[in-house]
Amino acid sequence: MSERSNRKNGGVIVADRLKQLRESRKKNDLEEKALEVALAALAEEPRKLTTCDLILEYVPISSWQSERVTCSECKKVMNGWSESWQFCPVCGSKVLSAERESSPHDRLTRLAVETALENFGSQVVTQS
Ligand SMILES: [Zn+2]
Repeated sequence: MSERSNRKNGGVIVADRLKQLRESRKKNDLEEKALEVALAALAEEPRKLTTCDLILEYVPISSWQSERVTCSECKKVMNGWSESWQFCPVCGSKVLSAERESSPHDRLTRLAVETALENFGSQVVTQS
């Protein structure tokens, strides 16, 4: 084999090896970034799970209106509810119970207590 074709063959081998090395470096860089992201995620504090109770509003049996339910944690009122709910769709708190009000007065009483507590809270703030 001539010197010229020897060099040509050698050049092809070196070029192939160089290509392999560059591809493997690119793969390693990608893997390094993925591992850094995973490590950062593992180092984060786990999110604290909050719990709540759902209060289903009293509805007369003849009513066509959809179920209205209030979350004890975020206080949001939602239209529609399913027994399969395990978490509040608004705040993500785990649902411990879902109880129906036995009369329309239950909700008024609950709202009155909440309003009184809120007012009490703001009075404490303004007094200090
Ligand atoms: Zn909630």
